[in-house]
Amino acid sequence: MTHVFLLVAMFPSAAVERDAHSFANPRHVVVRHAELDLQIDFAEKVIRGDATLTIERTSADRKQPLVLDTRGLAIQFAETSDDGKVFAKAEFTLDKEVPILGSALRVPLNDKTRYVRIRYATGPNSTALQWLSPGQTAGKKQPYLFTQSQAIDARTWIPIQDTPGVRLTYSARIRTPNELLAVMSAGNDPGRKRTGDYRFEMKQPIPAYLLALAVGDLEFRKLGPRTGVYAEPSVVGKAAAEFVELEEMVRACEKLYGPYRWDRYDVLVMPPSFPFGGMENPRLTFASPTVLAGDKSLVSLLAHELAHSWSGNLVTNATWRDFWLNEGFTVYLERRIMESVYGRARADAEAVLGRRSLERELADLPKQDQILHIDLTGRQPVDGLTDVPYEKGALFLKHLEAVYGRPKLDAFLKGYFEHFAFRSITTAEFALYLDEHLLKGDAVKAKAAKVEEWLHQPGLPSDAPNPTADDLKKAEQAARDYAAGKVATAALPVKNWSPQQWLHFLNSLPGDLKPGLMKLLDERFHLTATGNSEVLFQWLLLSIKHRHAPADDRLEAFLTEQGRRKFLMPLYSELMKSPEGKERALTIYAKARPLYHPVSVESIDAIVGWKKEER
Ligand SMILES: [Zn+2]
Repeated sequence: MTHVFLLVAMFPSAAVERDAHSFANPRHVVVRHAELDLQIDFAEKVIRGDATLTIERTSADRKQPLVLDTRGLAIQFAETSDDGKVFAKAEFTLDKEVPILGSALRVPLNDKTRYVRIRYATGPNSTALQWLSPGQTAGKKQPYLFTQSQAIDARTWIPIQDTPGVRLTYSARIRTPNELLAVMSAGNDPGRKRTGDYRFEMKQPIPAYLLALAVGDLEFRKLGPRTGVYAEPSVVGKAAAEFVELEEMVRACEKLYGPYRWDRYDVLVMPPSFPFGGMENPRLTFASPTVLAGDKSLVSLLAHELAHSWSGNLVTNATWRDFWLNEGFTVYLERRIMESVYGRARADAEAVLGRRSLERELADLPKQDQILHIDLTGRQPVDGLTDVPYEKGALFLKHLEAVYGRPKLDAFLKGYFEHFAFRSITTAEFALYLDEHLLKGDAVKAKAAKVEEWLHQPGLPSDAPNPTADDLKKAEQAARDYAAGKVATAALPVKNWSPQQWLHFLNSLPGDLKPGLMKLLDERFHLTATGNSEVLFQWLLLSIKHRHAPADDRLEAFLTEQGRRKFLMPLYSELMKSPEGKERALTIYAKARPLYHPVSVESIDAIVGWKKEER
């Protein structure tokens, strides 16, 4: 691993552009390594302990303090050391809290300081942490804790330079109740015994948002030589069956874009309240249980999180403005993995669904938020979490594929991952590299690439790729004919339809379907009872629009049994459009709110207008 460290040392800080979401000063002092010693207290719902940071000066200005990001942490003391053995108390200051960003923690340094130790405890509003009572888990017997650091919440459980422009290695000692297992975004030994005292090592440098921890009643199942799945005992069998192609996915991506550089690749299936579909914590993807459809129809999510091992974790956006570098590349890679493992038709179908979803979102988004290189100054990074960085970003790469051909683009991408491995880069650095390694030498093609328009203009260029899939065309036609009364429910050609076709069919139905058609569809195809979370989500959305009462109970169950933002936000928004719906939304939310993750709560509070006095 020494070579990795050297490589990073040669490029002290890639964050040439200031990160609007961090107080850190990596241009003067940078954290290279964090040694965590943390006690997980389920009774008090607090993490307390020490973070010992190895620092390095990156400028000649020796008067600069170390500036760390924190939000809601109780700082007990700070100490500094020259040799890592003898520590002396330091007169730290904690700035007044700034909305969104938190409080800068400043620790004065002397000329020779190399180590800074912070003793601290997490606060009650740590948005990175979700503490689940036994009743909120699948097994109902043990509590559960997990972290979600992306985008700027690592600072709510570790005092750290919380900018993706800074990369660090870490080691950790985590103390938990004896009967629980801890896992981290680090080396996890699949054969580990439960002792309540766990040690971890992450030898590859990562940005702070990839620091991750989960503690619960977890079991491991092996899938391949370097792949496996962790989950609660009652879920792990189902997860192992669903993810059986995981090792093949890793091989497919390696074949296209170079070696997998993180040793093991395991997946942790999360409790239902996990707010995202997946989180690409290195070596240990966190995945929502809503992807366990029983027929592998939603495993593109795994392909996506795995692809982040190249785009995102290996080559990382230097600021949240550059988020599309993580997500656009990853969606493109995800579809290439899906094509390799499950065939072209499946990948095409998912590309069509992606483009349609983007079009629907662009219709409502303000112009400035339709830009890949988005300006998020003064806003939450989560505001940039739309289809734009994902699907528009992927379309940009697909467009480059159309202009330069697949072999050339693949060679470019492989070189890009190699060149920028374990570095964090800005959109400008990407554009320079693109110019040098793909565009240069052919002015006609470079013009056709329209890089400036793709990166800095709203909407989509007129010649943006518009993927097609025959399977989906049939489903779309069926939806049109059905809505127009040209085909009866029983005559719909749904035999052997994939979940993707069902999704497209439902998406293609108009918002003003004739009365009675929803009921007929439900009676014949039992859509209210579907076990596929994506199909169910679309169906429930239509059911709210058309006031299809037979789906009411399932809607309430879906909104209280899982907490994925992607499903919650549109469903609550749709409910809020009518007075009766609004009343229902508030009744359901009052029950569901305590079960949701803080990240989902923040989003839904805004949608339903939840006021403090109602809490
Ligand atoms: Zn992603």
